[in-house]
Amino acid sequence: MPYSQGTRLPGESASKLGHLSVIESEWVNSLINDFEYPKAQIADPSNTLWTEFNSLSAEPLRNVWAVDGSFVSVSSDGFPSRELSFVKTALLTMDRAKIDTIDKEHPHPLHLQDVMTGSAIFHATVFPLRNIRTSLGSNYEAIRNIIKDSVKVDENGIFYETLKWIVYQKWSSVPTNSPSFGCPHCMADIQGLPVDADRGHCGECHKEVFLTDMIGFHLDMDEDSAPESVPSAYMLIMELLMLFTVIRLLWHHTDKSQLSDTLFIKDGPLTLRSQYSKLVPSLRDFLEHAKNVGRPIHIIGQEKSGVFFDHLSTIARFTSPKERNDKLHYAVLSHDYVRKEVYRMPDLSHPYGKRTNWGEKMYVKFDPHTYMVLNIPTGAYNEENSFPSSEDLIGLERILTTLPSLISHKHEGALFPIELANGIASMSSYPSSKILQKFSQFPDGK
Ligand SMILES: [Zn+2]
Repeated sequence: MPYSQGTRLPGESASKLGHLSVIESEWVNSLINDFEYPKAQIADPSNTLWTEFNSLSAEPLRNVWAVDGSFVSVSSDGFPSRELSFVKTALLTMDRAKIDTIDKEHPHPLHLQDVMTGSAIFHATVFPLRNIRTSLGSNYEAIRNIIKDSVKVDENGIFYETLKWIVYQKWSSVPTNSPSFGCPHCMADIQGLPVDADRGHCGECHKEVFLTDMIGFHLDMDEDSAPESVPSAYMLIMELLMLFTVIRLLWHHTDKSQLSDTLFIKDGPLTLRSQYSKLVPSLRDFLEHAKNVGRPIHIIGQEKSGVFFDHLSTIARFTSPKERNDKLHYAVLSHDYVRKEVYRMPDLSHPYGKRTNWGEKMYVKFDPHTYMVLNIPTGAYNEENSFPSSEDLIGLERILTTLPSLISHKHEGALFPIELANGIASMSSYPSSKILQKFSQFPDGK
C-alpha cells in the first residue's frame, strides 16, 4: 500500500513500472517492450515439420464411436454448505455412411435422430463432496462404495467387466495380477489383487479392499470431504471404460474385421495423471499386442484447450492449407519438439509422457480455418527424443482419411461425433440446478 498524503509532504503514488529499478535489466526491458509492442510474427518460430497428406490407398474407417463426459458440483445455501457433484458420461456410435448425408452446418433434426436412434448410452452418478452425512459411514467410505457400485450398475456391469479386462490383462493368454496400490484404510502397500478378484484384504490391517480402490480415488480425498478432482477423475476413468467396453466386445466378436474398421474418439488427451496413470501400462500393452497380431485399433483423443492447443493456434496460419482446395497437412510431434517448442523446457529429467500418456501428440490442419490437436496411441512407449514419427502412430493413414468427413462446421475445429456425445453428456440434460440444489438440501442431509 502506498503512503497517504500528509499535511507537509505529498503522498506516494502507487508505483508505476517505470519507477522500478528492475526495469534496468535488459531482459525485463525486452519483456516489457515485447509485451507492449508485439512484433507481428511472419513465420512459425518453432519450425514445425508439416507433411502434406497424400495417401490414395487408405480406406476410410466405417464405424465411429465417441465418448464424452461432464460433471457439475452443486452447493446448498446456508451454513455449513453442503456440496454434491454429479457426473455424466455418454457413449455413442454412428455409421459414417449416414453421417455423410448430414448437413454439417445446419443438421436437420430428423436426420440427426436417424443417426442417433438407439445408438447412445450414458452413465451417471453422484458423489458427496462436503458436509453430507450418510448413516453408513464417513464421506470417504461413501465415495469408495459409490464408486464400487456405480461402475457396476449400468448395462449389467459391462463397464466394470472392462475394468477387470484391462487391469488383469484378460485379453492375453497369460492374465496378470492387478497393479499394486495403497490400502485405503492404512495406506500399506497391497501387492495387487489376484486375477479376476473383485475384492481382497489388506495384509497389514486385514480390512476389505475393492478392485476399484486400486484405481486410487481415495488418494485425492480426506475423511470428511473430497475435492472436485474426484468427480473429474471418475469422469475420465468412466470415459475410458466405456470406450474400451466397445473395444473389448469387438475384440471377442466373431467378425474379426469390425474392430479395425472402427474409429474411436475420446474428448481430451489420452493421458491419465498421477495415481491414475497405473492403468497406462496395461492400455499400452494391449494396443501393442493388437497391432502385433494384425488387428490395429484406431483411437484418437482431441485436445480442445491447453498448452498444445494454444501453441497450435499461434502457428497454424503459417502452414498449408491456406486455400480451400489445398491438401490436409499434419505434424507428428516428437518428444524433443514437445519439450523445446511447446513446453520450452529442454532439460526435463524424465522422458516426455513416459508415465502418463497412452497416446502421442500431433497437429492436423484440414482447411484454412480448421486445425486440431490430436493424440494417437503408438502401443509400446519409446523414450527416444525423436519418437514418435508418423509410422509409429497406429493407423494414422486411415484416421486422416476418415476425419475430413467428421468435421463439424457448427463450431471451429470440432468433430461432429464429439459434438453429439457432448450434447448427451452435457449439463443441459441434467435436472435444472434449482432441482439439484433442493436435492442437496434434504433437512437431515440424508
Ligand atoms: Zn490396510
